[in-house]
Amino acid sequence: MKQRLDALKSRIRQTALDCGRDPASVRLVAVSKTHPAERVKSAIEAGAEILGENYIQEARTKIDNLSEESVSWHFIGHLQRNKAKFAVPLFDLIHSVDSVRLAKEIDKQAAKHDKVQEILVQVNISGEETKSGIDPEECLVMLREIAGMKRVAVKGLMTMPPFFDQPEKARPFFSALKGLADEVRNAKISGIEMAELSMGMTGDFEAAIAEGATLVRVGTAIFGERQ
Ligand SMILES: *Cc1c(COP(=O)(O)O)cnc(C)c1O
Repeated sequence: MKQRLDALKSRIRQTALDCGRDPASVRLVAVSKTHPAERVKSAIEAGAEILGENYIQEARTKIDNLSEESVSWHFIGHLQRNKAKFAVPLFDLIHSVDSVRLAKEIDKQAAKHDKVQEILVQVNISGEETKSGIDPEECLVMLREIAGMKRVAVKGLMTMPPFFDQPEKARPFFSALKGLADEVRNAKISGIEMAELSMGMTGDFEAAIAEGATLVRVGTAIFGERQ
């Protein structure tokens, strides 16, 4: 695990340097879905600092088991509105907000926990029907509505491009997300930040870094195949 994680971190670092970026501007989210708490603990001992989980029930058990660890937990899976009440107390960043209604529910739950919940808006940049995320055209309208919510802080955008054997083919989709973030920044919506771009997984994180990713979500390269 330590070797795999070290090798991955050095690839991330090298890719950033090759693109003229500060390596510190790219953070690794170690995606631990399906892997048990003991494996996640090994990853933490090997140097993982941010863990990404997809399923609330599974994450609750693991986070509970690993409550001594000073790591950050991010939610990256599809979040149903009725699960927001569980997600808010558990996660530092929710990557997958895809509707105003969900943001509203997060706002309500965050108030109960006296918390400001940081979120990313998930964008379906490829328009594939099977993918979650908002239509890029809806982005500004949605962000203007979320901007009024006191307990929700938008930090940026997230996307999942289609799967390609050749990661270079995913680049236009990463580039499109970056372009959308620039557009949002130019719209200067009060309270909306575009500091983070969550994009890139095991197969394509280098292409994502080249297009501006600040959070790469990598599972298989660290933990091996999922159970
Ligand atoms: C599972 C998952 C990942 C990690 O995928 P790998 O190919 O194993 O690196 C990243 N992002 C999301 C949203 C995921 O569901």
